[in-house]
Amino acid sequence: MLKLDIQRFAVPARKTSKTSKRMRRTHYKISAAGTTKCPKCGSVIKPHRVCSECGTYKNKEVKKTEETTD
Ligand SMILES: [Zn+2]
Repeated sequence: MLKLDIQRFAVPARKTSKTSKRMRRTHYKISAAGTTKCPKCGSVIKPHRVCSECGTYKNKEVKKTEETTD
């Protein structure tokens, strides 16, 4: 008996219409990045990162900035 070595794939029964495709893709949205406020200077920063304004992380200075060098 002849054994066929053909892979079978799932094939959609019909073409997805433009409307269905576009309706599905309305859920593909970019979400806004989370932000927090720096506890020292109050500027808006990304969470778990050194503040670019005052160079602090968790109220400790970790980076020298132009305002804090003097
Ligand atoms: Zn700051």
